[in-house]
Amino acid sequence: MRSGERMAKFYITTPIYYINAVPHIGHAYTTVLADIIARWRRMAGDDVFFLTGLDENSTKTVEAARSQGFDDPQKYADWMAEKWKRVWEILCISNDDFIRTTEERHRKNVQELFLCLLEKGEIYPGVYEGLYCDGCEAYISEDELVDGKCPLHGTEPRRVREENFFFRLSAYRDALLRHIEQNPDFITPPARRNEIVSFLQRGLKDVSVTRRGATWGIEVPGHPDQRVWVWFDA
Ligand SMILES: [Zn+2]
Repeated sequence: MRSGERMAKFYITTPIYYINAVPHIGHAYTTVLADIIARWRRMAGDDVFFLTGLDENSTKTVEAARSQGFDDPQKYADWMAEKWKRVWEILCISNDDFIRTTEERHRKNVQELFLCLLEKGEIYPGVYEGLYCDGCEAYISEDELVDGKCPLHGTEPRRVREENFFFRLSAYRDALLRHIEQNPDFITPPARRNEIVSFLQRGLKDVSVTRRGATWGIEVPGHPDQRVWVWFDA
């Protein structure tokens, strides 16, 4: 880099991992690849921010805590977080930060974002009626089922009716398609871009972003009976 030139900002993150088990070789593979890219970009003179961390607000955390004999999922999460951090230390991973979604800084940001979106009408209250797969921790549509079962988990989804909050995802379809068309390198490789484009062309549905009656996860501001859906918070 010549003097006077601004350093290019480069951000890279691994997925933030579920803590229902200790890291396996697949997690190590992903994290080492991200580390290689981060180190290369630093050597090339970029201003790099490399993140990894843990996605802790899943109901899988509660189940795993119970099966390991923990009464308090938070204690289990703290115990697991040390194990995960230790593995990245052993592998000399050069991450700049390690985020845990049960941390106060994350909780605060999620609640602020939620309120901001609610104020703008991007999140709105509604009623969800349909099928829910506990394994996916997600609603599943009738046409995704194979022989009446979730193709991923082989279990029958539950029929549920819930009052909760929805994110107006459908409103973003055209803007996303336009953005991807105008910026061909936005998603690489091209096969993945085409996959996303055809997914968008089929249309987007608004997505429920809160869970009523859940006790683990980030509280919905002003609605203590609801928690933010783990996929939305992470
Ligand atoms: Zn499933």
